[in-house]
Amino acid sequence: MTNAVDLGFMPPNTTVNVTSPKLAAVRVGLLAWFDANRRDLPWRRTRDPYAILVSEVMLQQTQVDRVLPYYAAFLDRFPTLSALAAAPTSGVIRAWSGLGYNRRAVNLQRTAQHVVREFRGVFPHTLDALRQLPGIGPYTAGAIACFAFEQDVVFVDTNMRRVLHRLFVGVDVPQAVVRDRDLLQIAERVLPRGQGWSWNQALIEFGAIQCTARKPACVVCPLQANCEAYPAIQTVIATLPRAARAKAEIPFERSNRFYRGRIVAALRDLPTNTTTTGIDLETLGRRVRDDFSDADVPWLYDLVRDLTRDGLARAAEDSPPYDATGGAESPPDPKQIRVTLP
Ligand code: SF4
Repeated sequence: MTNAVDLGFMPPNTTVNVTSPKLAAVRVGLLAWFDANRRDLPWRRTRDPYAILVSEVMLQQTQVDRVLPYYAAFLDRFPTLSALAAAPTSGVIRAWSGLGYNRRAVNLQRTAQHVVREFRGVFPHTLDALRQLPGIGPYTAGAIACFAFEQDVVFVDTNMRRVLHRLFVGVDVPQAVVRDRDLLQIAERVLPRGQGWSWNQALIEFGAIQCTARKPACVVCPLQANCEAYPAIQTVIATLPRAARAKAEIPFERSNRFYRGRIVAALRDLPTNTTTTGIDLETLGRRVRDDFSDADVPWLYDLVRDLTRDGLARAAEDSPPYDATGGAESPPDPKQIRVTLP
């Protein structure tokens, strides 16, 4: 590699080209591509940190097209941070219905309640303070600082990681050769000062549309001449083992994550007059699984206990056994448990 520079933080024998001409060419090329190709997404039209937070949480593990209707409906229902903080958790879970990974909804509300309680409803502006908020990781803190407060900060999600790796390090499959810490240092060098918002949006969009994981459009890529992965990426991708690698995986429809979703859906569908008393485990079991039997009660009880811990359900004993001896508390009898939304 010509003009390659060993940055000192890479694994041995790994160098990256971060010379000024390359940085300049990549910045100009990527920002021009973004101008021409950006999608008009609602979270790109706002600088409200609450709306940005909602979009970032929804976009975790979920495609843009799927998020769009939920984003609009959620903000209609909970237009402000304080509205979300004050809402019953069961209502928040219901509004999230269909989007999946319900725990995100509960965590989002906890973040909102914390900001209302500790910051009088005003999001802190600094990256450090944002990172201290419950339920906010380094990526989301960076996204709020950049997309709401227009700060020049670096952070990496899957798309950004892939683009930076390919442009500056090389082929990233079957696995990346540098760590996020290294990529963040590269990101820091390439970020054009004063244009953090556009730059980070461009990286995300480029990874989502142009430089995708398995079908990067290299032939029509404006950054081809400045891409370290370009000479080899198509060949490497073509020779990767097919996704049909016969992994002995449990089908999703039999996984605990599938049944967690079914349990929350069953609780959400309870008639309103039963939402306070809830339903017993056996009835719940028959609603989430056709072949439910007595032998499955402990399994269901464990799932309900996990959901309770995650704030997605509430479980209470119908009539706790009376311990006449006054000794140690008896373990709960799963058959006496009644379950509701929180
Ligand atoms: S040339 Fe291919 S791998 Fe390189 S940035 Fe463009 S699309 Fe991605």
